[in-house]
Amino acid sequence: MGRIQTPTPRTPLPVGNVDSTALAPTDVRTELLSGEPTARTRSRARERDSDAPRRSAPPPRYTVSDMPPEADAHVENTDEERLPPGLHPLELADGRIDPDAEKVVRRLVRHGFEAYLVGGCVRDLLLDRAPKDFDVATSARPDDVRRLFRNSRIIGRRFRLVHVLFGGGKVIETATFRRTPIEEREGDDLLIRNDNVFGEAHEDANRRDFTINALFYDLERHAVLDWVGGMPDIEQRVVRTIGDPVVRFREDPIRILRAIKFSARLDLAIAPEVYDAIVVCRDALGRAARPRLFEEILRLMRGGAAHRSLWLCWETGVLDVLLPELSSYLADATDESRPVFRILSALDRTTRERGEALDDTVLWTALLMEPLREACDGARDRVAAAQDFLEPIVERLAVPRRIADAMRRIIAALPRLESGRAGRFTKTALYPTAADVLAISQMARADLPEEDAESAAGIDPEQKPARRRRRRRRKPQRPEDAAGSS
Ligand code: ATP
Ligand code: MG
Repeated sequence: MGRIQTPTPRTPLPVGNVDSTALAPTDVRTELLSGEPTARTRSRARERDSDAPRRSAPPPRYTVSDMPPEADAHVENTDEERLPPGLHPLELADGRIDPDAEKVVRRLVRHGFEAYLVGGCVRDLLLDRAPKDFDVATSARPDDVRRLFRNSRIIGRRFRLVHVLFGGGKVIETATFRRTPIEEREGDDLLIRNDNVFGEAHEDANRRDFTINALFYDLERHAVLDWVGGMPDIEQRVVRTIGDPVVRFREDPIRILRAIKFSARLDLAIAPEVYDAIVVCRDALGRAARPRLFEEILRLMRGGAAHRSLWLCWETGVLDVLLPELSSYLADATDESRPVFRILSALDRTTRERGEALDDTVLWTALLMEPLREACDGARDRVAAAQDFLEPIVERLAVPRRIADAMRRIIAALPRLESGRAGRFTKTALYPTAADVLAISQMARADLPEEDAESAAGIDPEQKPARRRRRRRRKPQRPEDAAGSS
């Protein structure tokens, strides 16, 4: 395989609100190499979060010049990786580690096994965030773990791991170290279908997706163990794959969405070669398991960073593959594209205020609200129009019927809800979900400048002055206003 040259995106990539020349991948690379804090790369994500896309800017150009040949590029487990890991003495057990997770690790170690905290929890602690949950990796086999913890059960058929159960429904997932089977890496087809082979700690680190997700915390030594260069990436706040990103994305295209999720949610830069590989490999998402795509898109929407996530999906062309309906809506529209991102911002704000993810139906309806409205505009049967629009999406992403049906009904009812004529709909089980969608839509509009808000609400601009005058005349004048104006 030769070098990959200028992977011109399949369709013209959307133009971000960021000056693309100033933020070319090479600049980010220079920044990372210079050891400077990634303030600029991070501010990139923040700039993306601001609402006004600069559509007049030239489209970004992605140039991947020095990609190694695919098959040779994969990092095999070498003796080098077997070297002792980078050891970073650090006290993480300062009250932030779940005591039950600590209990699991310590009991395993007491019985002669290796055991560490791993993955997302170590990453989040190092980034000063509260971990969602705590996972343990160990040399103990599932049956050993099961024997040590009466409050546990073995789950999974392909790869067996143990759930150790504690009060309040808490689960500490405890998995035996595993490695990527060598035979899976042969041939052109890199897709991993079997990851059910036990291994050693360093192999378990290397089978993971990103360097920041492959750090182990050793509670005995009070140190982070790093076989993959994750610590420098945590310090520089950058998402980088373990090994060649093109290979890793072809092995499992869902990792593309995970890279976007971690960058958006944790406010991290994406390493330039990883960003380039996302652009190069995005079509592989079309071959990923559809239920995984469905779930991973929801995860992009759930974490309070839906705006940034979807912006990145759009910017990289990933959206063309997942939801061409939405990306062509964004490409066709000029100013009208902004409501899509305003809705996502409103969604993020609501998620943060509530401190929990919104209902899946609310998330999907919010994501597709604008193109759905467009599809239903002027249709005599709005439910049928919404169904026609949604059908290919349901197929492509395995959207459950329950969610698709609810979306159709909410979109059909939206005009009545907006004008306060919901009638019997308010008595249906779907109403609370629809009310959330309505609140998000209204919050998004409240952010718009007055004129845009009115046109987004379908108000004829010709009618505007007359409406305003009428409204003003009807408003009773308060005494203090009268005093102020005199
Ligand atoms: P979150 O906070 O979203 O749960 P997480 O890092 O814990 O983030 P999980 O999906 O719970 O993500 O996965 C746990 C760990 O398993 C990850 O940290 C990563 O090391 C590994 N992992 C998950 N998915 C993949 C994948 N597709 N390829 C390789 N490793 C993966
Ligand atoms: Mg997790």
